[in-house]
Amino acid sequence: MRPMQHSSKLQNVRYELRGPILHAAKKMEAEGQRILRMNLGDPAPFGLEAPESIVVDMIHHLRDAQGYSDSKGIFSARTAISQYYQTKGLMQIGVEDIFVGNGVSELISMTLQAFLENGDQVLIPAPDYPLWTASVTLSGGTPVHYLCDEANNWWPDMADVAAKITPRTRAIVLINPNNPTGAVYPRHILEEFARLAREHDLVLFSDEIYEKITYDGAVHIHTASVAPDLPVLTFSGLSKAYRMPGYRAGWVAISGPRTATAAYRESLELLASLRLCANVPAQHAIQTSLGGYQSIGDLVKPGGRLHEQRDLACRLLNEIPGVSCVPAAGAMYLFPKLDPQVYPFVNDEQFVLDLLEDQKILVSHGTAFHWPAPDHFRFVILPSVDEIEEAVRRISAFLAVYRRK
Ligand code: PLP
Repeated sequence: MRPMQHSSKLQNVRYELRGPILHAAKKMEAEGQRILRMNLGDPAPFGLEAPESIVVDMIHHLRDAQGYSDSKGIFSARTAISQYYQTKGLMQIGVEDIFVGNGVSELISMTLQAFLENGDQVLIPAPDYPLWTASVTLSGGTPVHYLCDEANNWWPDMADVAAKITPRTRAIVLINPNNPTGAVYPRHILEEFARLAREHDLVLFSDEIYEKITYDGAVHIHTASVAPDLPVLTFSGLSKAYRMPGYRAGWVAISGPRTATAAYRESLELLASLRLCANVPAQHAIQTSLGGYQSIGDLVKPGGRLHEQRDLACRLLNEIPGVSCVPAAGAMYLFPKLDPQVYPFVNDEQFVLDLLEDQKILVSHGTAFHWPAPDHFRFVILPSVDEIEEAVRRISAFLAVYRRK
């Protein structure tokens, strides 16, 4: 029998965070080895649990959540989301502007599919959260990466953004706070994005899933708030701040002039209706999550667990000779640099694999995030301080061998 065909549309689609290295780690675990996993942005394995009131609320609603819901999401959730944005000053966002999905992931691919023609270019940050690049490619678009500047808090290099706009550019993706760098963008950067979008008639796709995870007084500003006159898609959800990625609840809010977005909304509604609806029990958690006390605040303030873990990880990584790390102002990751003079790796995937095999610790290689050089890796700050200390000790021991070569 000839092998089953597989689609060439996936030829350039990559998502290495769950690729061969994770499989190698799983194989080692199956053989009984204990791996320190500093690779995935999932709070659950590290004892960072969803707030009890939200879980109880979801259980309470389980019986009412057996049927399909409206394709855009249940009314109470969409009302709560629009009211949340209104309290943040985005007065124009109403219930009709909200689409609820199975996590932001589903909405990223759905919103791009509804938007792109073959060959349309989309500007995406480098480094990026790789789903964005994959989804643009799957939708027939061409991802074009703009650089973020490590020497300037990992903020986007706006000259590079401007230089990469062509007549085929249709949209710019912003990830703020950023995965994997932890950057939180100041107002002037957002205003510059809005200016470019205005000048070149571009749509802004703003991934704000880490909006509530900021440190040291860094303030997250919604892109939509500096571009009320432009079509902006704002993405967020329950996976990170509410520690429930497995429940799959995310949303997108469409802002900007309604006449300009009317036809696009119809296309998106069509795609939303093709998949019937998002997971209904998790939609019931949205209203409770957004209202009332926000326990994530306790984790990110000084003395809070995430704050302490970020401080410790950043300090210890910076103590390794030839390693430098910009402190994250937000999100749950660090993106340290390996000085190429000290560690002349040509293949960072191999570096991560060797580190895994030698020291039983799993991190993610920088090129998986479309960073152009093999000189960075992503380190997740969700594990406990003891695990972080142990992880950095192992990385340091591994790198010491290279320094002596
Ligand atoms: N956007 C970014 C920047 C992420 O880091 C992630 C997950 O890590 C997602 C989107 C996907 O989130 P969700 O669980 O809502 O699908």
